[in-house]
Amino acid sequence: MSVSEAAAEAAHVIVFDTTMRDGEQSPGASMSIEEKLELAKMLEEMRVDVIEAGFPIASNGDFEAVQRIAGIVSESTVCGLARAAAIDIDRCAEAIRPAKRGRIHTFLSTSPQHRDHILRASPEEIDLVTGSVTHARNLCDDVEWSAQDATRTERDVLRRCVEAAIRAGATTINIPDTVGYTYPSEYAEIFRDLIENVPGAERVVFSTHCHNDLGLAVANSLAGVQAGARQVEVAINGIGERAGNAALEEIVMALKVRGDALPYATRLKTEHITRASRYVSAVTGFPVQFNKAIVGKNAFAHESGIHQDGMLKNASTYEIMRPEDVGQGGSNLVMGKHSGRHAFREKLKALGYDLGQNALNEAFGRFKDLADKKKHVFDDDIVALVDDALSRGADRIQVKSLRVVAGTEGPQEAALTLVIDGAEAAATCTGDGPVDAVFNAIRAMVPHAAELRLFQVHAVTEGTDAQAQVSVRLEEDGRIATGAAADTDTLTASATAYVNALNNLFARKEKTAPEPVMARGF
Ligand SMILES: [Zn+2]
Repeated sequence: MSVSEAAAEAAHVIVFDTTMRDGEQSPGASMSIEEKLELAKMLEEMRVDVIEAGFPIASNGDFEAVQRIAGIVSESTVCGLARAAAIDIDRCAEAIRPAKRGRIHTFLSTSPQHRDHILRASPEEIDLVTGSVTHARNLCDDVEWSAQDATRTERDVLRRCVEAAIRAGATTINIPDTVGYTYPSEYAEIFRDLIENVPGAERVVFSTHCHNDLGLAVANSLAGVQAGARQVEVAINGIGERAGNAALEEIVMALKVRGDALPYATRLKTEHITRASRYVSAVTGFPVQFNKAIVGKNAFAHESGIHQDGMLKNASTYEIMRPEDVGQGGSNLVMGKHSGRHAFREKLKALGYDLGQNALNEAFGRFKDLADKKKHVFDDDIVALVDDALSRGADRIQVKSLRVVAGTEGPQEAALTLVIDGAEAAATCTGDGPVDAVFNAIRAMVPHAAELRLFQVHAVTEGTDAQAQVSVRLEEDGRIATGAAADTDTLTASATAYVNALNNLFARKEKTAPEPVMARGF
């Protein structure tokens, strides 16, 4: 069944994930192609209907990501974004060609704030809509058209543009709240108006795309659904331009938990949500706030907090959904150094990981190392350990050993040994603090021009023996690479995270020439 056929069943809502397109547009959230491929697999397993994998004309990296995702994903529709120009649309069509189900998503700015030199619903503007959608339909049966900044567009202009897109063969019409300006009843009214008044509206799927500038993205999206939209554009953890997009996990769980009042269903396997959330956080280096709905560390914290007593007596006292529903493992079974390989594999399965034999052996070895250093190994430790391994690119450089002098008597000093392309190198450097000394030692052995854009440390669990999870983001010539690492030693984690970021940066440099940064989507 195609996506639009599925939507024709009254209550089905299509989940369109734009973590890799709009989400990646948030400054610093860039993901490598390997990370995108991994995420695409997770989204498909989670049964996301449409994966917007990138903006193929924007860069060779985006093109390659869309093309390779199109090659490996078969259940979900793979979508690429294109402006209303033939060159964009052609490039997009080429990128999605390997897909079993492909979609071209093309857009035009319709609001007075975004229309440059174009008169209100001028014939030129309508021609652009008709021309771009017709061109896209000649290349692909599944075409989505978006009215950029739709919520600030004069209603008559919006109606005429939507009508032109439908006439030209668009199958999905997206009404983005590009600047996060609308509120629920206003947004709902726009959908009702278009569905009632635009000829051919009954033939297409209407879609929401809401930004969270006023914290209303999820509420607006749900209002859109209640008014007849049957697709929601969302991102994992709500990442995206500025304050982000409507969060996938929040919309999907709102529909699931309040099915009594909101009779709309998605196909999503919600127990995969936590896993995807953690992965996106790890590869982008964007932490999830503790009190974030559904996926925050404290979202189900009564499990171990002061409500525990009441919880044990009757879960419904405090719970409107179960942690297991979103893949939070249920029991936080503590593992230790006596836990065997079988228990470890079962634990990984419960956490949503399906590793191959080599990856499993490698992860088990790292788990044993960790269990030697740390008495109790919690779920979060295991997640950090496995994600750390998964987010590693080609390891040209590895940390062999590190000894650091820290404390009140400066200068702080780091003696670091790296393995670079198979050969060992060592350097001892001082710095303004131990982290600076470690990074100076890396720079001494691996000279590079990249600038440090982010250095972030957080504790994976509680306790002084907790693992530190470190994220490092580097930028060089507009290329951004993130590296993450977890270790009970904060400085070892810092060195490894920096080296991982460098590995990712070098891997990217080999593949792509520097590219000019171009205007991106909505
Ligand atoms: Zn957007």
